[in-house]
Amino acid sequence: MNVTFWGVRGSIPTPGPTTSRWGGNSSCLEVRHGDLPPIVLDCGTGARKLGMKLARESGRHAHLLFTHFHMDHVIGFPFFVPVYTPGFEIDVTIPASDDDEARDKLGRFLNGVYHPVRLREMPSVLRFHAIRPGRTFQRSGYTVKGVALNHPGGSCGYRIEADGQSICYITDSSPFAQPGDGVLYDREPTPGEARMLHFLAGADVVVYDTMFELSEYLEKMTWGHSYPEYARGLCAAAGVKHLVLFHHSPDASDDLLDERAKAWSAATAPRVTLAREGETVFAEG
Ligand SMILES: [Zn+2]
Ligand SMILES: [Zn+2]
Repeated sequence: MNVTFWGVRGSIPTPGPTTSRWGGNSSCLEVRHGDLPPIVLDCGTGARKLGMKLARESGRHAHLLFTHFHMDHVIGFPFFVPVYTPGFEIDVTIPASDDDEARDKLGRFLNGVYHPVRLREMPSVLRFHAIRPGRTFQRSGYTVKGVALNHPGGSCGYRIEADGQSICYITDSSPFAQPGDGVLYDREPTPGEARMLHFLAGADVVVYDTMFELSEYLEKMTWGHSYPEYARGLCAAAGVKHLVLFHHSPDASDDLLDERAKAWSAATAPRVTLAREGETVFAEG
């Protein structure tokens, strides 16, 4: 199984010369495993190029999982070419209490006001599925689990498994312990951390929201984002093999991300790298 990054930027797309090397598109990932249909994680602006690629492939089925509906995670959906491809089947999973509410959440965004094409006018075959954090479902050979994250309005993290390999997608989320408490400080895990340690246990790859540096997090603790040391501490305690830092701050220039990548390059158990637009990370199993 592998994951390709089509958008790595948090909060707002950041095109321009200072972000061209790490990428300025907002959250969108593509998970692939053998001949199984792709799983698309979130539809930020990165979804535009991914959609063009999927439309060129022979497959006519994809899964799309949304973490939550903040704009940086949905704004690419109306520009995701498969939704305009007649006969293209897309199973859309949205955190909601039932399937109708899942459809309504996207329908409110695609109602003719914010984009000219309404959801019901899209010619693809769109099937809507609600997920409640804590639930597990099987689809097309994948096992998908959801977990509640720590974000204003909520966000659902995902663990995707197939043939003994596993990739987790944890964005957007604050830490699950206050500074000075929890696993990062060699204390007992908080209840939220205990839930996350179980969820992440032994994962091959964990993509984790680390939008802030620690100092910035301390100023913006209610914003619902994390920082690299915390993600690393949690993933180390969960026995994760490879942590990928993700949802880069719109203020983080290429030079700053180069520095961050260098600073983490010696990390082991887990290995720590930064998500870069266009790159693929492999789950070794
Ligand atoms: Zn976000
Ligand atoms: Zn968000």
